[in-house]
Amino acid sequence: MKQIVTAGRVLAGSELEVIENGAVVIEDGKIQKVLAAGQLTEADRQDAQLVDLGQKTVLPGMIECHNHLCIDARKNEHLEIIGTASECKLTMLALEGLYDDLQSGVTTARCMGDKYDLDLKLKKEIQAGNVTGPDLLTAGVGMKGSNGSGYIGAPHSGVEEFRRTARANVAKGVNVLKIFTTPGLFSVEQGFVPSFLSAQEIRTVVEEGDRLHLPVAAHCIGGQALKDCVEQGVKVIEHAYCASAEDVALLKAHPECWVDLTTGIYLDPEREAYLSAANVAKARAGREIVRKCVGDLVKAGVHFSLGTDANHGLLWKEVVYAAELGADNRTALKGVTSNAAIVCGVAGRKGELSAGADADLIAVQGDPLADPSVLRDVEFVMKNGRIYKQDGAAAACCHAFQKGC
Ligand SMILES: [Zn+2]
Repeated sequence: MKQIVTAGRVLAGSELEVIENGAVVIEDGKIQKVLAAGQLTEADRQDAQLVDLGQKTVLPGMIECHNHLCIDARKNEHLEIIGTASECKLTMLALEGLYDDLQSGVTTARCMGDKYDLDLKLKKEIQAGNVTGPDLLTAGVGMKGSNGSGYIGAPHSGVEEFRRTARANVAKGVNVLKIFTTPGLFSVEQGFVPSFLSAQEIRTVVEEGDRLHLPVAAHCIGGQALKDCVEQGVKVIEHAYCASAEDVALLKAHPECWVDLTTGIYLDPEREAYLSAANVAKARAGREIVRKCVGDLVKAGVHFSLGTDANHGLLWKEVVYAAELGADNRTALKGVTSNAAIVCGVAGRKGELSAGADADLIAVQGDPLADPSVLRDVEFVMKNGRIYKQDGAAAACCHAFQKGC
């Protein structure tokens, strides 16, 4: 099937270059070309379904770089739920989150560790057309130290345990190997960032990934673990909430290592409504530390992508926070488009409107390069050429389950 999407402004290519009165020509779910509407030929128009988005801005579907399907930060005490909820309950939670993510303009999401292999199972259902959601990239079982903290990772000790799980994840078909190296936040009383994994354990997972061209992403807020991760070949540092000046310098010296920022966890006061009192206190205690450290990192020009850490449907806020912390608007937007695609290993295929890329398009009123907050109201969503939202409403026949409608 051939389609042509036209709009007042199209953000084209990996640099999000503005084409006024632009058009995107699509065939069988892939972008054929992106051009000024005035350059469309009769051959382009022949047999094409025309989608005229008026004066809206069309940009690539957003890529959520850090998600969990079995967590929904919009639910009361969502972290505690993980320990007690059944697979069925967590699956229901996941379906809701996936649907809301797609409706918010997220067309690709990287899952950074889930229980019951939900990410792997739901990826298949989405691919088969049975479930509505973004295209997924998966990590399977997240690996933490048996001395470590956190709600999602499974405990491991010694290089052979890490190797075994890394290989088991590979056998299941994951896209990334996920390790957890530090707590969630620096504790002022403690005075340092604990590092739970040895350099050898980190190296083992990197080696297992390297041979198969699979990247390793590390939950890591800073300190010794950040140094170990960078030196042992980890490709993405997740969170970096407490990156010191030394950490920033190290990351600048290693541009092959990216940082994936999820600052809304601490900066977004609206999340507090869904946290236990103890976790509210932690979020407040960390807010200014995170603002300062992540701000320093962004201002230093360390390259980054963006994720919500399971704040489903609210990736747009991360773009706003990145801009507030000192990124220019284009770089902030690339954090959920072309730079996110690099971090997720899908550059050229996702995160840009270019010939040969998947037809993942969204549209908003206004100009996100002038004001990123316009991403709050995504009015049009297309994924792989199929329209899931139009005129601000879910397309007919778009439910969490696609079958039977
Ligand atoms: Zn996470």
